[in-house]
Parts: sequence; C-alpha cells; structure tokens
Amino acid sequence: MKERMSIRLKMTLWYSLLICIIVTLTVLAFYFASKSVLRLQSRDYLIAAVEENVDKITYLESRPTEDALSPPGILIPYDKGFLRVDNDFLDVIHDVCAALYERDGVMLYGENPLSYEASSIAFTDSHLWSLTKDGVRFDIYDRKLNLPLPKGKELWIRGFAADTKNLQDLRKIMMNFLPLVPMLLLISLFLGYVMTGFQLAPLRKIEGIAESISKGDDLKKRIELGEGKDELHQLANVFNSMYDRLENSFEAEKRFTSEASHELRTPLAVILAQCSLTLEEERSPREYRDSIRVIRRQAARMNGLVKDILDYARIDQGPLTYPMTECDLSGLAKETVSNMALMTINDIGLKSEIEEGIVMKGNSELLSRLLQNLIINAFKYGKEEGTTLVVLESQEDKVTLTVEDNGIGIPDEEQEKIFERFYRVDSSRSVPGTGLGLSMVMKIIQYHKGSLSLDSKEGKGSRFTIHFPKGKE
Ligand code: ADP
Repeated sequence: MKERMSIRLKMTLWYSLLICIIVTLTVLAFYFASKSVLRLQSRDYLIAAVEENVDKITYLESRPTEDALSPPGILIPYDKGFLRVDNDFLDVIHDVCAALYERDGVMLYGENPLSYEASSIAFTDSHLWSLTKDGVRFDIYDRKLNLPLPKGKELWIRGFAADTKNLQDLRKIMMNFLPLVPMLLLISLFLGYVMTGFQLAPLRKIEGIAESISKGDDLKKRIELGEGKDELHQLANVFNSMYDRLENSFEAEKRFTSEASHELRTPLAVILAQCSLTLEEERSPREYRDSIRVIRRQAARMNGLVKDILDYARIDQGPLTYPMTECDLSGLAKETVSNMALMTINDIGLKSEIEEGIVMKGNSELLSRLLQNLIINAFKYGKEEGTTLVVLESQEDKVTLTVEDNGIGIPDEEQEKIFERFYRVDSSRSVPGTGLGLSMVMKIIQYHKGSLSLDSKEGKGSRFTIHFPKGKE
C-alpha cells in the first residue's frame, strides 16, 4: 500500500512539476520575446522622431517678417538672432519626447521628462543610451544640429522614450501571473493525483489478483480488465498467460504424481498380497521359493518404475539439468549403437548407417538416451532373430535419425497413445516396461525443437523418424 501510494505521489509530483515548468517557461519566453520586440520598436520610434526634428529648426540672424514665417513656427530669441522652430516639431509622439538644448544642457524648447537626471549627462552625437527613473526605463538619443550658428554656439536635440504603455502592461501581466504559479501547482497536483489514481486502478486490480494467486487462493483466477490494447491490458494478458502456464504445470505435476503413485501401487499391492497369502499357512520350500520369485519380479518392476520416474522428472527440468552444447551426433550415435549391440534380446541384430561428421547443438546425454530408448524398444518389441536398423543422415536444413524394426508393430488406434506417460499397449504387457520410455523420447525431441513421425504396421514392424533443425538452436 505504502509503495503504491508512493508511485502515485511520485507520478503526480513529476507531472505537476513538469506542467508548472512548461507553463512558466512559455510565459517567460513570451514575455521576453514581446519585451524585446516592443523595446526595438520604441527605439526605432525614438531615433526616427529625433532625426525628423533635426530639420524643423533653423537659425535666423534677424527677425523674419510675418509673411516670411511659412510654414508657421515659433521664434525663440537666440544670441543675436532667432531660432525658428516649425510648428510640426514633434514634442511628444509614440511616447517619445524631444527637446532642443544648448551644449551646456539649457533646454530651449520641447518636452523633457528627465530634466534633472539627464541634464548632467554630456551630449554625444547619434548616441543611444538608457536611464531608469522611478522604475521606468528611458531610452535617450542625442543628435547635434548642423546649423550656421554664431561662433561658439552648439545646439542639440535630445529625445526620450519611456517604456511604452504596452511594455508596462506586459510587465503587469507578468507580475500578476507569477503568484499564480503556486496555485497552478496545487491544481495540477490535485488533478494529477486524481488522474494517476484512475490510471493506476487496473494495476491495483492486477496486483490484487497476483497476490491472491501467490497466496494459493485460486489458480483459476484471471485478471479481467475488459476491452483495451494499452500497456496495462498487455501486462494483464502476459500475467494471464503466465497463470495459464502455471496452472498447466501444476496440473501436470499433480497428474504425474498421481499416475506415478498409481503405477507403483500395483506391484506393491501384489507384493503385500503375496506376502499375506504365503504367511497364511505353513508352506513347502518350493512354494516359498515361488512366492519369493513373484515378490522379486514385482520389486524389480518397482525398481524400474522408480528409476524411470526419476529419469523422466530430471529430463522434464530440461535446460536446468542438461545444458546445450555443440555435439558430434555421428560419434554419439556410433558409440550408442556399438554399446547397445552388446545387449542380446531376442537375438535381434543391430545395423546402422551413420553419416560422418554430423554436428548439432544439443545435449549429448539426452540425445544418447533418446537413441537408447528407441533401440531398446525395437529389441523388446522385435521378433525373434529380427533386425533393427539405425540411420543417421543430414539434409540441407535438418538432421534425420531413423530407428526401424521388423517387430510386432503398433496397432493404428494405439499409435498416438503410446507417447502418453505410463501408457502400454495391452499386447506388449508381457514384456517388462514402465510406459515412460517414449514419453522421455518426446520430451527430449521437444527440448531440441525437433519432430517425430511414426510409421508402423501391426505384425510388420515400426519406423520412428526424428527430424532436428540444423540451426544453432
Ligand atoms: P515401455 O516400453 O516401457 O512399455 P514406452 O513408452 O517405451 O514404454 O513404449 C510404450 C508402448 O509403446 C510400449 O509398451 C509398446 O506397447 C509400444 N511400443 C514402443 N516401441 C515399440 C516398437 N518398436 N514396436 C512395437 N511397439 C512399441
């Protein structure tokens, strides 16, 4: 519960933080971009206004007649003459103020919002600079007038552009937005928490079922998330197929244990019955001997069963117990055949046609066991003085192993069943066996990703053909 809460909280926190960062960065980027555009625009206005005003001033050595004052303007007495300022001298336009100055900072005409702060700063021609007053930033632009003035005189126009109203509004918006960031964080935290809770609900369901299955409540339970193809549905499907496999292997294990104990019970029952019968009364030595022979036969059967059951269980573990390596199948087959040829059952001869140099990826112990099981069966279910032929050959993409006998054969209706565990054809029950040999063969073939086909005719013989893929797997 603790862990789940922490994942939910972690996701919410990350998500909310990310949203806040993205929104704040977007607003800041917008603010700085707009600010720089507005500032550039305001500077352009400032320079244009000052440059335009340069042509609006003229110096007259004597007072002009009324008629000569065209276009209309203002006359300012200056030195021995007059300065004529056209009426369209732009005092204030686009938040730009302009004023006419003498070199020593005395203002002759115009508007100056920074009379005190700016007057002490010397003029520099065509120079743009800035100054801040009461939190308002001013751009200032100086321009020297090229007029035929009396000797020693110099006139300047100085323009001032304060932050435009738009820029101030923009700043206000920013100032109002910043306190909203914590609120935005709280809202996205709340929404994020609710949303992640909603998104993680199927995960809680998966966890609940997994917990109940791992506690052993019910292996048949499955996760039902309804229709959907997202990752959680895929996860649920993976879990469900894992539970299917788990259930199957539990069932298989249960079946195997019950089949094995059932098989062991029969010889055990015979032994117990034989003992009770023999002990019922005084017996002759011959009767005792017969009785002990029966018990020995059943004990031998049990011994064979236990051995095969253990072998089968080991083979069932496959990759854990039997690692795959490159193995020389030709050498392995030759060795197995020559060892098996020493066994004499029913005087059956063992022949082989083994192609040289066949190598495949596999486990040599298992492959040798597979061949032994098939040859033993060919011996056990062969006819007196019959023959068994082992053929190993390789084709382009596969290796083929064939074990053929001319023995009793297998009835058509039994051919599928003989690969089941403990299954034995009734007609061959007189021959000792456990019914596990071919199940092991099948397991080994599956482990090596091969396939088996059986061709058999009752009374004529059987041919087991196995194909292994030649690949590295
Ligand atoms: P087991 O030989 O111990 O009984 P197997 O699993 O090896 O167990 O074989 C299962 C059954 O298949 C045998 O009992 C037999 O009836 C039949 N069988 C197997 N191989 C042959 C064969 N080569 N010829 C005839 N019948 C066979």
